[in-house]
Amino acid sequence: MDDFVEVSSKVYEFPSTIQSDKHWKLKDASCGTESLPASTDQFVQANESRNIGIQTEKFCPPQQSCNDQQLAKWLRKIYPIIEAELLEGVTQIYSGLEYSAVNISLVPYQQLSPGGDSKDTHSTGKAAWLSTRLDNVPDLVVSSSPPHQGWCEHVNQTISLYIPKRIPHEQFVVFTEVRTVPVKACIEFLAVNAFNKNIFAGVTVACDFYIWQHESTNNLEDIKEIAYMTIPYASIVGVDWLQINEVLTAHSDGSVCLWKISKQIVLDKRFRINSKAAVTTILALHPSNFLVGTEEGRLLYCSTVQTTTYTKPSDVTEPAYVELEKHTFAITYLSKGNFNGADVIISYDLSGELFLHDMRNSEDGPLLLIRMPLPFKNSIVCSKDVEYVISPGKNKSIELFRLRNGQRSYVKGSLTEKEGPIRLSDNGCWLITGVQNGTFQIFAVKET
Ligand SMILES: [Zn+2]
Repeated sequence: MDDFVEVSSKVYEFPSTIQSDKHWKLKDASCGTESLPASTDQFVQANESRNIGIQTEKFCPPQQSCNDQQLAKWLRKIYPIIEAELLEGVTQIYSGLEYSAVNISLVPYQQLSPGGDSKDTHSTGKAAWLSTRLDNVPDLVVSSSPPHQGWCEHVNQTISLYIPKRIPHEQFVVFTEVRTVPVKACIEFLAVNAFNKNIFAGVTVACDFYIWQHESTNNLEDIKEIAYMTIPYASIVGVDWLQINEVLTAHSDGSVCLWKISKQIVLDKRFRINSKAAVTTILALHPSNFLVGTEEGRLLYCSTVQTTTYTKPSDVTEPAYVELEKHTFAITYLSKGNFNGADVIISYDLSGELFLHDMRNSEDGPLLLIRMPLPFKNSIVCSKDVEYVISPGKNKSIELFRLRNGQRSYVKGSLTEKEGPIRLSDNGCWLITGVQNGTFQIFAVKET
């Protein structure tokens, strides 16, 4: 009756059969009498069954009696071991777990040639999925452009809005171009507001910064320009929405700007990241954090509200940051996902190595959960459950790589470029890739 398990509120309810001079104490769920580091508490709470194995096999002999001091000592003893095991790299964890993920396949669905005219020279493109309209089919904006040599000198650039339209008496929809609006230069980024997917930001190669809203009234579809400005800083390498009215832009000189969006775009804060290397990509983490990846493979988890120092020029602040596990090569992709129930950050570098950082340990910043070299180096997109990585394959194919078992499959004859854009809709049902001769390819993602 003296071990950990039997000291609980249920036992307390039974009539005592033990010597009357012995007092039982109710213990709360944490059992600890000494305050322990908050970050390590979370390891014990949040991790899988193998923690239990460690506890019972190595550190909790059944004959051992319990008191508060011993318990605290025992907890202190196992924490570093669990932590060390987590840091060691736990790729093996998920290989033995029951997994209920579905099999998916890609079915070529439709090709889009925005703008109508032949755009033979258009070899790059951007696409973004907006809010869902019907039957899990979202609206879509796309823009394609010719390659760049030096400054953008392309006039007559546009973005195009496509909406899914149901074909009468048929069971399918067709993405139909309903609106095209001009932009001042070729589009470099399209970023949808995750809090209102009818609103999206666009940035051109000339640092034109647009905020648009898709409006749909009386069967009239429009893209309304909410705000516009030209950003006066170094070239933009990433754009993401932090809040419903806040956008972050990352710049090649290592700075990050936080913009407040209303009828105007107003600079709220400008950060200088303490990194000698150039920032290559950014991921906003609502409500007040962001992650930047750098050319030298660093991953910096930064705060927009905790700033450590003011540097010159005086309008620039340095955010407090935690450095995550470093990649060997430049970071090319950052995303969020949910892996085995844990919110994770997905990062991917030029060499094709993928990291997953566990977001649950908020005290010390995210911890490395999985580190895995992928069999390709092209641009990628991950499914939300991090089960599949989708990438342009050889001979214009699309490759599906299953992270759990390394299984590879291909869809042949697709339109894509080696470094082309590839965007999965938030509901995981639609994929768009491109672009070749101004034409994008849409795939339906089917469960099999
Ligand atoms: Zn251009």
